[in-house]
Amino acid sequence: MGMARHRLTTSFFHMALRGVTGGCPRCGSHGWFRHWFHRKERCPRCGYKAERQDGYMLGAMTMNVIITFFLLALVIIIGTVVSYPDLNVPVMIIVGLSIAVVWPFVFYPNTYTLWAAVDLLMHPLEPEEVADAEAHADPAWLAAQGRRSA
Ligand SMILES: [Zn+2]
Repeated sequence: MGMARHRLTTSFFHMALRGVTGGCPRCGSHGWFRHWFHRKERCPRCGYKAERQDGYMLGAMTMNVIITFFLLALVIIIGTVVSYPDLNVPVMIIVGLSIAVVWPFVFYPNTYTLWAAVDLLMHPLEPEEVADAEAHADPAWLAAQGRRSA
């Protein structure tokens, strides 16, 4: 079982990079999101199912909120540094509010896949999950993975 589980093991940095750009952390496919809020249940290429347990969406949303707050803090810090000592508070509020309202939606698919990368790192796929994913994977992609399906 060792080989089967390790073939797809990617460094977390690589998985996070895939996730940040909206790709599947497991195989890098960008097929998860057909439309912004129209997400497939599984990665169409490798068959990976992101929502492996209850609470997945909560984790993804929490991370989205944390990133949003981080960006708000960044706006306040940069705004303060750039305009000090004449703080342009109205502009900072407008920019901050725009980020707070727009960012969570813009970044939604990326948060979803990034959280999938975190989840995959914390809980590597169990053998039965690998088998389940392979049962739903793109046959051509599976074949390209070589011995995995053997
Ligand atoms: Zn995938």
